[in-house]
Amino acid sequence: MMADFILEHWYIWLIIAVGLSSIYQAFKPIIKGHLGEKSTAAILARLDQSKYSVINNLVLQTRGRTSQIDHVVVSNFGIFVIETKNYKGWIFGGDEAEYWTQVLYKYKQQFYNPIRQNRGHVLALKHHLRAFPNIAYIPIVVFSDNATLKSAIYSEVTYSSMLREVIKEYADVVLTEEDKQAIFKQLNAANIKATYSRSKHVSAIRQKLEAREKSLSENRCPQCGGNLIPRFGKFGEFIGCSNFPTCRFTIDN
Ligand SMILES: [Zn+2]
Repeated sequence: MMADFILEHWYIWLIIAVGLSSIYQAFKPIIKGHLGEKSTAAILARLDQSKYSVINNLVLQTRGRTSQIDHVVVSNFGIFVIETKNYKGWIFGGDEAEYWTQVLYKYKQQFYNPIRQNRGHVLALKHHLRAFPNIAYIPIVVFSDNATLKSAIYSEVTYSSMLREVIKEYADVVLTEEDKQAIFKQLNAANIKATYSRSKHVSAIRQKLEAREKSLSENRCPQCGGNLIPRFGKFGEFIGCSNFPTCRFTIDN
């Protein structure tokens, strides 16, 4: 009886299954995007708290210039300065190049060399911590495991899943416990992240553009958060949104 009902109305179950699966597909990139953003902080939180003091999102004002540093880890082994790039696809670049390139399907994006970006962060930290002139700074660039580095890089560049191993390779004690705690305190006191996010300098238009770039770099549709996938149309291959026809976003090649 029940089996008959299920068999007779098989199309209802099919519609429900397809519906649930497309809802999941639509929200998956959003869910994943959020996980990706939090992952470096979550990875660093699992370090031994007695040895490593973590500051996430350190914003420093240095001679009128603002530096936004993703993560700083103050330890007895030096100060780790971490820049996170949550990009997907292939990454091409060099230690000294001004710009690096991300390639995802036909989508290509240039972004400022994160090694250089991190050098600027170290300079800002050095200025704030000039009372401690002999600190060892260890800049590290972290890519998500969804990215593949296609160039040989000699600076410290790693993937999320390997970050803690890289940090633990630095085992020589170069900072006293007292200095470590003083530095951690001083950096937290200098952190202006609360006022920075609300400041006029970060205009609404810039935020919008940055959000679009960020979505594209993570292979997400900037309009609805769907996946960007290769599609075939009258004029050949193009990159469009997985939620077509509800969403008509495409990347112009
Ligand atoms: Zn879309």
